[in-house]
Amino acid sequence: MNCTEFLSSLDAGVRAHNAHSQSCTSCTRALQSVIELDRLLAIPVTPHVPREFNDAVLQRIHNRRFLTTLLAEPLVPVAMTLLVIVLWQFRAISTLVMSLTHDMLMVALLGIAIVVLAMPLFLLQTSSLDR
Ligand SMILES: [Zn+2]
Repeated sequence: MNCTEFLSSLDAGVRAHNAHSQSCTSCTRALQSVIELDRLLAIPVTPHVPREFNDAVLQRIHNRRFLTTLLAEPLVPVAMTLLVIVLWQFRAISTLVMSLTHDMLMVALLGIAIVVLAMPLFLLQTSSLDR
């Protein structure tokens, strides 16, 4: 047997000295390296994951899902459009509000109050549906 044949036997999985490797320092070192490599590969490796990692990942998923759900709600684009219109035509709207009678103003304020009070409940419900 020569060096090439011995190294081929290592590649084939043989892990033992023979007459050649006992007389050849290069093949002895190759056998020791392969045995050491086999030992290292046999050690189970479990990555260290910080305890907070799972919670952080789940929180990020929840946040993304919540935002996606919120943006998918049909009322959100309607509310945003209304907001843009109010900001764009604020002067005309404020003139209109000034011309309203007291009763009409109270009805409008009641409607706004209902929407403002309903929004946290809607957000809470959407948030609890995600979990
Ligand atoms: Zn050799």
